[in-house]
Amino acid sequence: MNADRFFDPRTETFSAEERAAYQGGWLAKLVAHAHANAPAIRRALDGTGVDPAEVTSLEALERVPITRKDELLDLQRAAPPFGGFLGIPTDRLTRAFMSPGPLFDPQGPEPDYWRFAPALHAAGFRRGDVMLNACGYTMTPLGLMFDEAARSMRCVVLPSGVGNTELQVQMARSFGATAYCGTPSFLKIILDKAVETGLNPRADLSLRRAFVAGEMLPESLRAEIEALGTTVHQGYGTADLGCLGYECRESTGMHVPEEAIVEIVDPTTGQNVPSGQPGEVVATVNRTTYPLLRFGTGDLSALDISPCPCGRTSPRLVRIMGRVGDAVKVRGMFLHPRQVGAVVARFPEIERHQVVVTRVEHRDRMTVRFETAAAPPPDLADRLAEALREVVHLRAEVELAPPGTIPEDAKPLVDEREWD
Ligand SMILES: [Zn+2]
Repeated sequence: MNADRFFDPRTETFSAEERAAYQGGWLAKLVAHAHANAPAIRRALDGTGVDPAEVTSLEALERVPITRKDELLDLQRAAPPFGGFLGIPTDRLTRAFMSPGPLFDPQGPEPDYWRFAPALHAAGFRRGDVMLNACGYTMTPLGLMFDEAARSMRCVVLPSGVGNTELQVQMARSFGATAYCGTPSFLKIILDKAVETGLNPRADLSLRRAFVAGEMLPESLRAEIEALGTTVHQGYGTADLGCLGYECRESTGMHVPEEAIVEIVDPTTGQNVPSGQPGEVVATVNRTTYPLLRFGTGDLSALDISPCPCGRTSPRLVRIMGRVGDAVKVRGMFLHPRQVGAVVARFPEIERHQVVVTRVEHRDRMTVRFETAAAPPPDLADRLAEALREVVHLRAEVELAPPGTIPEDAKPLVDEREWD
């Protein structure tokens, strides 16, 4: 096991009971602090009759009302800048930001305020790494989120920001940058630019590891980048909450840090969904500066609680499947078109597909129509149906469509149900 201080064997290998006790401990202090210092939290708890002294466990946390991003926006507009959620005096802040939305985000005095150092560490970043930080530094906290994390690990940061691809290549080469932080698509653009200017990224650049966030990471893109010599790990977080998950060397989902309690809830009822099922990511992080209790991110994911060979025992967010608004409920389960897209991508024979949700005799029916270029193998439909059932936990009718019947710009999911 790695003894480096950014892998903490005291917490990252907790048993379920130890984790519950550890998180219950900080949760109790956080809720008491928020109730005493953040007027918006006090109003929310008092208004729903929740005694802060009783919120000491994940089960009790479920009674605290969820604050969704849209509501935060309204509350911030009514009481600028932070809507009554700030838990410390304003003069103790170090920076403040305006994220798209526009949402205001504070930065408190804590070192590595957004807690991304363990994420960079899990991605292989170490002291002395020279990190090209291709994230914006203006208005939003993005660039500084990773800047602060890298500096706390004593990495050297090249704050290169977004754009200027050719200069980024020059900078990476001149400083011998060993690591990259930013979106995966922009990393690919930088590596492609290097190739275009006659360089061989493997030999002429030293970019060996990357931590990517901020957009979807298709496995195909990961493979293309890794073929150019840079290992890619992804993480997940929000400007409001900081880090909520990161991949370890196994890259089989994003471990939830011990300082975050992540729940997966049914967006319509706010109740936790059974383990493994998809729903909205709702998170509470251990941070007194801006104690957003049960913040509804609007992102869809699911938690995997199976053991991970890396040694960390925390649950993993499987991946971000999209935004809540794009999902539909089928037989009581959330279904996002991207979940189906990820399954279909495993079958290279399939050229196009479309999910159609209908209702027959008051029962939802999900049909996945697909087209292939050549005559498909006879068992393709069965294998696709089986893979869908395993991943989306729903039985689907699978239908081979005649060539040319699914338009190129077809919506990935069509909901044809009528409810009158
Ligand atoms: Zn792991």
